[in-house]
Amino acid sequence: METSADAPPQTFYDGVKARFAEARDVRLGYRPEGTAQYTSDLTGALAKYEIDPHADDGAARAPIADTVECLFIGGGFSALLTAARLRERGVESIRIVERGADVGGTWYWNRYPGAACDVPAVDYLPLLDEMDYVPERLYAKGPEIFAHCQAIARRYDLYDLAVFRTTVISTTWDETERLWRIGTDRGDAMKARFVICANGTLSKPKLSKIAGMETFAGDSFHSSRWDYAFTGEDLCGLADKVVGIIGTGASAVQAIPRLARAAKELYVFQRTPSSIDFRNDRPTDPDWVARLKPGWQQARRMKHMRGREQDAAKRAELAALSREEKILRQENANIDHMMRIHRRIEEIVEDPATAEALKPWYMFMCKRPCFDDEYLPAYNRPNVHLVDTGGKGITRINARGPVFEGREYPLDVLIYATGFEVQRTGIYNEIRGRDGREINQTYADGLRTLFGVHTHGYPNLFIMGGYQASFQFNLTFMLQTQGDHIAECIAYARDHGHAEIDVSPHTEEWWVNEVIAHRGKTSRNQDCTPGYYNFEGQFNRRQDGNYNGGFLQYYTHMQAVRNELDAHFVFA
Ligand code: NDP
Repeated sequence: METSADAPPQTFYDGVKARFAEARDVRLGYRPEGTAQYTSDLTGALAKYEIDPHADDGAARAPIADTVECLFIGGGFSALLTAARLRERGVESIRIVERGADVGGTWYWNRYPGAACDVPAVDYLPLLDEMDYVPERLYAKGPEIFAHCQAIARRYDLYDLAVFRTTVISTTWDETERLWRIGTDRGDAMKARFVICANGTLSKPKLSKIAGMETFAGDSFHSSRWDYAFTGEDLCGLADKVVGIIGTGASAVQAIPRLARAAKELYVFQRTPSSIDFRNDRPTDPDWVARLKPGWQQARRMKHMRGREQDAAKRAELAALSREEKILRQENANIDHMMRIHRRIEEIVEDPATAEALKPWYMFMCKRPCFDDEYLPAYNRPNVHLVDTGGKGITRINARGPVFEGREYPLDVLIYATGFEVQRTGIYNEIRGRDGREINQTYADGLRTLFGVHTHGYPNLFIMGGYQASFQFNLTFMLQTQGDHIAECIAYARDHGHAEIDVSPHTEEWWVNEVIAHRGKTSRNQDCTPGYYNFEGQFNRRQDGNYNGGFLQYYTHMQAVRNELDAHFVFA
């Protein structure tokens, strides 16, 4: 984002910033309870929102009581990428224990119409070198990504020992046997030398707590549990139906254009608009593919991570600025970007009031940005109605549908696109390390990890995708980085005949301080409109979040630690 020479006066930027603050305060004022406004306790009347629509009844099976070397809790990309590296290092005994009926994680569950990834497929789809695969288009759609996950599992023989439709509920370190004991909801009593928590960051669907929601008489489901039995595979079942969708985050933005085309009427209940930029999807250039050399994806990823060196003149110019000037520059450029997003809405959406309501009033990246060419035009259809709640959200639902400002919206089907619980380690799972200490107890005064992966007192346990790790828009690259690291740690322990690998307290303390040093440098988190990026506006300890020192730094630190494993870990 660059500021142009004919930029507006500073008073313009100050005015926009004030408007951002106003929008945040309005939204926060309605839901001051932060993350408590949601529930992910999907039991009782809400249990149906978590039922897997993709699995059959799941034949009963005898409980398993065996021992494997590496056990993954979860079968999404975290598990697949790490398991691939373990296989390359000769580890044979690998088990995935997965709640769904197949591997794929996010891409197993999220099959809503239009599901696709916003990161270019050549970057997002992992192991393309190893799988000898080049995606056909710039952006991969859900089914292609899910199929890629299955192909990885087949290629690395991960189906053999995998256990599906099974949820790990306890993971307990056995001091005598120096193994983890894993209990599941199917009565299994498995044991594993190494356990990798690969259960994802946004895996458990959450619902906004809305008065009367359990009384709704029509069909209703969460976006990650799409009810194709009701909608029909091609949504043809909606042709005579009035459909409502709550939420306008990344899931809803992809589903809404398809719903708009299929439904008789569509009501979109919006609390905060997303920023929508162009997508411009296109086929992969065959000439580019023809020029690819073996190892191209890894080379491309490393090039991206290192970034382009800033030229000397630019570096000198930046160095001459004070901290305040740098922040001001960044903020103004960010506002310029958001004003372009606003102009795009004005150009596409015909009804001025609808266009106005769709404008996001917050800094770019306060919320997950969206990229879609069909979302905004959907509002020009006569059957699509935006119900803008001005930051309040839907707070009441009756048997017929949502009620807002005294008006009832009768619906045949209501879709909750209200997102996912952000989790730190095990979601359904209690983890007890040395002395039976539960991991949340260990984290009671703040997260304590090395790289978000290791915690002292939890030997042979590795956590993927959690906090205190670097945040990457291209999540699979981050997960691959962690997977490579974990596989090397495990291989080192095995090769040296060690039964245990535990991070040293000293190294863990170093990393916690590293995380703290890079967090809370700006007021960005407090200034942003609430969402899961900033813990819904709640206060958060500086160590309880992502490592903000940059991905290259994260990667470099990991490599440095791996070069001296004996100095940073206690082996036994
Ligand atoms: P989000 O958490 O991003 O969105 C939840 C939505 O529900 C928000 O718009 C929220 O409003 C709204 N909401 C919550 N309660 C209410 C209420 N009572 N009334 C009205 N609206 C309400 O969930 P998503 O599933 O959309 O996305 C989660 C994440 O998954 C994304 O951020 C992204 O990381 C990933 N994803 C990526 C995709 C991609 O690559 N294209 C596609 C889909 C998901 P408010 O903003 O005010 O809180």
